Amino acid sequence: MEKQLDLEPIVFPGVEMSRPIIIAGPCSAETEEQVITTASQLAQNGIKIFRAGIWKPRTRPGAFEGVGSEGLPWLQRVKKETGMLISVEVATAHHVHEAIKYGVDMVWIGARTTANPFAVQEIADALRGINIPVLIKNPVNPDLELWVGAFERLNRAGIKKLGAIHRGFSTYDKSRFRNHPMWQLPIELHRRIPNLPIITDPSHITGNCDMVQEVSQQAMDLNFDGLIIESHINPEKAWSDASQQVTPESLNAIMQTLIIRDSKQTTEDLTLLRKQIDECDNNLLEILSKRMRICEEIGMYKKEHNMPILQTKRYDEILKTRIAQSKTLGLSDNFLKTLFVAVHEESVHRQMECINK
Ligand code: PEP
Ligand code: MN
Repeated sequence: MEKQLDLEPIVFPGVEMSRPIIIAGPCSAETEEQVITTASQLAQNGIKIFRAGIWKPRTRPGAFEGVGSEGLPWLQRVKKETGMLISVEVATAHHVHEAIKYGVDMVWIGARTTANPFAVQEIADALRGINIPVLIKNPVNPDLELWVGAFERLNRAGIKKLGAIHRGFSTYDKSRFRNHPMWQLPIELHRRIPNLPIITDPSHITGNCDMVQEVSQQAMDLNFDGLIIESHINPEKAWSDASQQVTPESLNAIMQTLIIRDSKQTTEDLTLLRKQIDECDNNLLEILSKRMRICEEIGMYKKEHNMPILQTKRYDEILKTRIAQSKTLGLSDNFLKTLFVAVHEESVHRQMECINK
């Protein structure tokens, strides 16, 4: 069992933090007017926490890299005129000092920064003794340990109001997502650190304003705590992430469609179904164990007859026939492929152990 983090709930005086917590605002602060107009429209729609990127980590040099500290007084104006809380991304100790100087209420660490332990440590050290909430985005690569490590660094520096932002993971393959959600990672994070709030970032997951609603609903179905959504008064003209930003008005429409499941509902009715699931899982485990025992016998046979373990033709045939069966069983190709690749990997491993005994 790993050492649990010492966490405190993220609360702000006078702000109700019930599910879903919504953080909204432009990808980047561009001009004072853009910031103030966007913020006042969001505030009118009941949004309580404003986001805006001041320093932008861009993949390629030469793109708009944020207005820098010049934009911080604009955020102060947002706070003063709308009463919203303000949040920015920080990537260096300098960013932390500047954000604190201008009364920023909450900061987040971006995905590219989380991937770098030196940068995370520098931010943790700069935040020592400052009691503001810090949200940590998942690293760009699907590495849960790196994400957990970032929480540990902040927590060891005494920061207790921590939360996670799930913004998806970059993949080399073409996909309909900008960053693949890989929901199993935030689910596993929640299993390991149950009292850590998880905020989903459908904007950076999808990269597409038309898909923001769908992913927001999925996050709510999984009982995550909130959403951070990029919103701009004129998305088409945005200086960064134009294709994924929604107007404050569309954001409002999206919020109206969301079905928020009741996480406090008792699970008694589920008991019966869960019993059946337990039984299925027990059967599955027994079958898997039997399959592996047979693999070991095959391993012994191959050893006696001096045959190689990997028989590509047979592996190919297994994958093909099992995937063909998936259609009639109502299982997806993808799922069966993942399952049988894992089963085969374990079989090969078992046979290797037998052959080398
Ligand atoms: C952002 O929130 O604007 C941002 C840069 O996101 P990420 O760190 O997820 O790429
Ligand atoms: Mn962005």
